[in-house]
Amino acid sequence: MNDFSTRAIHAGQAFDPTTGAIIPPIYMSSTFVQDGIGGFRNGYEYARGGNPTRDSLQELLASLEGGSKAFSFASGLAAEDALLRSLLKTGDHVLMGNDVYGGTHRLVNRLFVPWGIELSTVEMSDADAVRAAIRPGKTRVLWLETPSNPLLKITDIEALAAIGHEAGVIVVVDNTFASPYLQQPLSLGADVVVHSATKYLGGHSDVLGGAVVVNDEELAEKVAFLQFGAGGVSSPMESWLTVRGIKTLAVRMDRHSENAHTIASALEGHPAIERVFYPGLESHPGHDIAARQMRDFGGMLSVALKGGPDAARRFAESTSLFQLAESLGGVESLISYPSEMTHASVKGTELAVPENVIRLSVGIESIGDLLADVLQALDPLS
Ligand SMILES: *Cc1c(COP(=O)(O)O)cnc(C)c1O
Repeated sequence: MNDFSTRAIHAGQAFDPTTGAIIPPIYMSSTFVQDGIGGFRNGYEYARGGNPTRDSLQELLASLEGGSKAFSFASGLAAEDALLRSLLKTGDHVLMGNDVYGGTHRLVNRLFVPWGIELSTVEMSDADAVRAAIRPGKTRVLWLETPSNPLLKITDIEALAAIGHEAGVIVVVDNTFASPYLQQPLSLGADVVVHSATKYLGGHSDVLGGAVVVNDEELAEKVAFLQFGAGGVSSPMESWLTVRGIKTLAVRMDRHSENAHTIASALEGHPAIERVFYPGLESHPGHDIAARQMRDFGGMLSVALKGGPDAARRFAESTSLFQLAESLGGVESLISYPSEMTHASVKGTELAVPENVIRLSVGIESIGDLLADVLQALDPLS
């Protein structure tokens, strides 16, 4: 098999055999002609069930995550919703990390719990706590996110997958922050990978998408049925843009990681900063695990400001290259205030983010310019 960077450009991306176009057209077709009743060409019938552009993205994602099948959805949450509905029945229990993406917690807490699903959260870096939180016969899903959003906590995927499997639990990893270039959860024992393709996979803040990747035929059939039966699919245009983004994933992630590492190192010990959350720093409690299970440490970092919530807000409103916006993973740098923005939905729960924390999605601009921007914004706060 070819290396990652080669597959990112070629897997599922054969040229168009009819015209020789190096980039196949975007198949903007909702239905497909039949040669006689039931005579489908290449299996295509109706685009909710299958579309060639979506298939090319799905083949690419399966290849990059080392899975047998991938399914592409209209958003990360649509992907999570389809996966969970294909796995859970009334009375089942979902065990989540206590630092997962706010929208993931909201999805289960607000939409699944009222239908009789049980939810609890646990500190995933504490193996004993995880063992104790698994409810024998009831826990169906162990939901990991590493690095996590926004505190960049690191979970030992291999160790947690083993604990989950001892108890017959399906182990899901949200791989959005790392991307398959930096981390491959299936090879570490996870059963399912989910993505918000809106972030690093798309990579240019111009597409909303999500994915589920599996390595098991039975699971694949269940997710395939939900994708077709409930229809939260990604559109041909969105699928094509995601493929387009993924071609540069490897080079982008290298630069994101390098830039974020430089900023994290510069901010550690800065007079305005209480703490830097970046798994690439040796001071990070998950550093050794991250170094083992990731190729590099990624483009996301958070900082806690010494001056509390007021200083945090001023910092977030004082940068210029780092634009104040939700989301992450695009080529441009973004800054956000999680407790009021991405994580407003978990305010008052155990997932609430400290109010002096600011999250940076470090882009691939010139590091000199990025560093100068961050330092000028912190200067008045020191
Ligand atoms: C953004 C995000 C999601 C949700 O994805 P959408 O594409 O916004 O629906 C899930 N997990 C993580 C870690 C995210 O950052």
